[in-house]
Amino acid sequence: MRRIYLDHNATTPLDPEVLAAMQSVLESIPGNPSSLHWYGQQARAAVEEARESVARLVGATPAEIVFTAGGTEADNMALRGVAAAAGPGGRTILHSAVEHHAVIHCARGLAEEGWQVESVRVGADGRIDLDDLARRLDSRPALVALMLANNETGVIQPVAEAARLAHAQGALILCDAVQAAGKLPIDVAELGVDLLALSAHKLYGPKGVGALYVRRGTRMKAFLRGGAQERNRRAGTENVAGIAAFGRAARLAAERRSSDAPRLAALRDDLEARLLAIPGASRNGGDPRVPNTSNVSFEGVEAESLMLALDLAGVAVATGAACASGAVEPSHVLKAMGLPPARVQASLRFSLGRANSAEEVAAAAVAVAQAVERQRSLRRS
Ligand code: PLP
Repeated sequence: MRRIYLDHNATTPLDPEVLAAMQSVLESIPGNPSSLHWYGQQARAAVEEARESVARLVGATPAEIVFTAGGTEADNMALRGVAAAAGPGGRTILHSAVEHHAVIHCARGLAEEGWQVESVRVGADGRIDLDDLARRLDSRPALVALMLANNETGVIQPVAEAARLAHAQGALILCDAVQAAGKLPIDVAELGVDLLALSAHKLYGPKGVGALYVRRGTRMKAFLRGGAQERNRRAGTENVAGIAAFGRAARLAAERRSSDAPRLAALRDDLEARLLAIPGASRNGGDPRVPNTSNVSFEGVEAESLMLALDLAGVAVATGAACASGAVEPSHVLKAMGLPPARVQASLRFSLGRANSAEEVAAAAVAVAQAVERQRSLRRS
């Protein structure tokens, strides 16, 4: 069966060049970057070269990049690190209602430890309500977390405006750019953020490696304690091969973004037009969006069954729902946008990537139309 992968926001396949870079490190660089001998120096050089590439991708200096074991760790490191360094005055944290669980659940943990955690509302288009943010900033929070692009809808947030508001009240701002890197140009200075989270496996790098940009001078405490790696900001022997692969993926993302983005946007728009031609289909999330993502609800259809039916037809897509303790939780993102529960439960996310073709998009749209029709006829019978 021909398989079509339209779930690149969940993860991207390794780019062959990235795989080659990773393999070469695994095979030929056995040293520990902390060792001072030749072997250690080889490993150190691989890590530092990657740090430069990742820094360049987001307009940071290499010294501001801390490698982590992924986007979740980067978000947790930022939230917990800032919370631990904040004085007794700043005991509030704000995050948008549509953040990834890596932010929301980490903040929930801080709430259990006595922090005041508040969620900032979003409009029906999925963009943060800046008036609500401004009001909540009166509590002078220690940190505001606002993602650059949403993983479910692709909606891009007004991070630079939020950063200005946050800084005016003395708050730091964390930007989760995990879904934006490689899809949008990112410049930490233009965004005006203090912290920015990245993950390699969303940009054709390996899983389990990421980074946190920490603006020079940002007050935060180390989250993992142990050795002095990463300038005392993240203890533990570095994942040298993963980091080198992340560096290569970041370099490729920077080189290819300007050609990838318009091609993906055209494919996504074509797919979306075909999907929206299905009776009862509607798009979720407003503009601006990243070029590869489309979130669509199909009236009267259970997204979970639709996703499974599409999988049997060889098409991989995602529902916004998360499976928590065996129960399917409806998407907190679509709920926060005020979508009625039936529409939330009927939504699918399509996320395209570099290897997708126009033929795949057309074939996937036919498969969706057929699966929707079949689900509806089963419901009617
Ligand atoms: N933040 C966002 C917006 C994401 O989409 C994801 C992954 O889906 C993460 C954080 C977590 O990244 P990782 O899978 O590298 O832990």
